[in-house]
Amino acid sequence: MPAVRIIGGGLAGVEAAWQAAALGVEVSLYEMRPGRATAVHKTSNLAELVCSNSFRGDKLDNAVGLLKEEMRRLGSLVMRAADSARVPAGAALAVDRVRFAEAVTEAIEAHPRITVIRAEVPSVPAASPDGATAVVATGPLTSDALSEDIAAFVGARHLYFYDAISPIVLAESIDRSKVFRASRWDRSVWTSDSGDPRGDYLNCPLTAEEYQRFFEALVGAESATVHDFDSERFFEGCLPIEVMAHRGRDTLRFGPMKPVGLVDPRTGRRPYAAVQLRQDTLAGDHFSLVGFQTQLKWAEQARVLRLIPGLEQAEFVRFGMVHRNTYINGPTVLQSTWQTRTRADLFFAGQVSGVEGYVESAASGLLAGLNAARVAAGLAPVAAPRTTAIGALAHYVSHAESSGYQPTNITFGIMAPLETPPRDRARRKMLIAERALGDLDRWAREIGLRGALEAAHG
Ligand SMILES: Cc1cc2nc3c(=O)[nH]c(=O)nc-3n(C[C@H](O)[C@H](O)[C@H](O)COP(=O)(O)OP(=O)(O)OC[C@H]3O[C@@H](n4cnc5c(N)ncnc54)[C@H](O)[C@@H]3O)c2cc1C
Repeated sequence: MPAVRIIGGGLAGVEAAWQAAALGVEVSLYEMRPGRATAVHKTSNLAELVCSNSFRGDKLDNAVGLLKEEMRRLGSLVMRAADSARVPAGAALAVDRVRFAEAVTEAIEAHPRITVIRAEVPSVPAASPDGATAVVATGPLTSDALSEDIAAFVGARHLYFYDAISPIVLAESIDRSKVFRASRWDRSVWTSDSGDPRGDYLNCPLTAEEYQRFFEALVGAESATVHDFDSERFFEGCLPIEVMAHRGRDTLRFGPMKPVGLVDPRTGRRPYAAVQLRQDTLAGDHFSLVGFQTQLKWAEQARVLRLIPGLEQAEFVRFGMVHRNTYINGPTVLQSTWQTRTRADLFFAGQVSGVEGYVESAASGLLAGLNAARVAAGLAPVAAPRTTAIGALAHYVSHAESSGYQPTNITFGIMAPLETPPRDRARRKMLIAERALGDLDRWAREIGLRGALEAAHG
């Protein structure tokens, strides 16, 4: 019986396991927690979301929305669990993190062809004499022993950068008399009982004076780690707020504190700046500060963030923090099938393969699992069309400029352009999305992805 070994039970690993098992292959999934912890995971659940509870945009006018739809059509477990654990978040897909991880864990543990082994794998799996393939999906916090062995395998020093996570506050500690509920531009997918858009975010409005006071406190606050802001290599999409503040007085007002699309119902005007709070659990008892990743010392976080109107008495369920992110230089190591260039039986997937984000990690796991199963069964591996978001991501990771390579989120910019693109941006995106879904369906039929489309369509 063909077999696949998967190392790491995170977003990429579970998706790889699910796909491989769906193709009739025996799967061993190795997860080191709870025996060995990481710096940020808190539970023993598979697919634990360590930071934001958001899977980002869920509409086809947005590349990550398109990627999600493609994954649904390919029978993704991560998407199925995310859809079942959805909480209000405007045009985005956000989930109750506990329900999400439990749904994934239950599905994986109940699968007759998947065996979960709770153990650390300290080295890159050697080629197997019986033809079993292997997927390394150990994430940004890959254990030290395995990190060293991966570094030896790829023949180069690991690349890494720092990333930071946002604080979460207890809902009942937010002063509701100072905040207002709204989605930017009234884009809400949830409605009140009367059918009006309800607004999925709590917004903390700041006057110019309040903003200045907050800014001064932030730039003067003490960091948990002393970082040289110029040489530190943060991922641009996930900069800590204090790093942004050091770039200029108004940087935050054009970033996570931008007030555009918001009108404070008490003044009838747009606030000078605003902080958005997003519901973190179905019960609505936790809210995260959107885009407020930080590495300030915890006491400093409490002091500075309590200057935000509405958060004066905030109780912090979790403080922001900084972490190390380990990843390989995809273009020098990988093919667009997620196989390594030197060993056809070995695959990398998820954040360690050089993608960024929950959805992208799961998407890479989906294709790596599918191909690991195919190769184990003696079939040729396949690459998804570059016109699809999932194929474009694989192409980028395996073909981008390798010098100074940085992990990427999915964007329309890395997808194959239209032959005759219309001028209108919105129309252009819709045409790219239509083409992608058409090509994906055709491709899935051609490679005989049995039952996956039917399963996805219920
Ligand atoms: C602090 C932090 C905050 C982040 N915030 C966000 C965010 O807000 N939004 C977002 O989209 N992405 C965020 N990311 C990136 C996020 O980690 C990835 O998007 C996603 O979790 C990657 O999925 P993955 O499967 O590659 O890794 P993970 O989900 O981390 O899964 C890897 C698994 O491998 C296990 N493992 C590690 N080494 C071994 C070993 N040797 N043997 C066996 N098991 C092992 C780990 O325990 C873990 O369960 C953040 C990452 C970190 C660390």
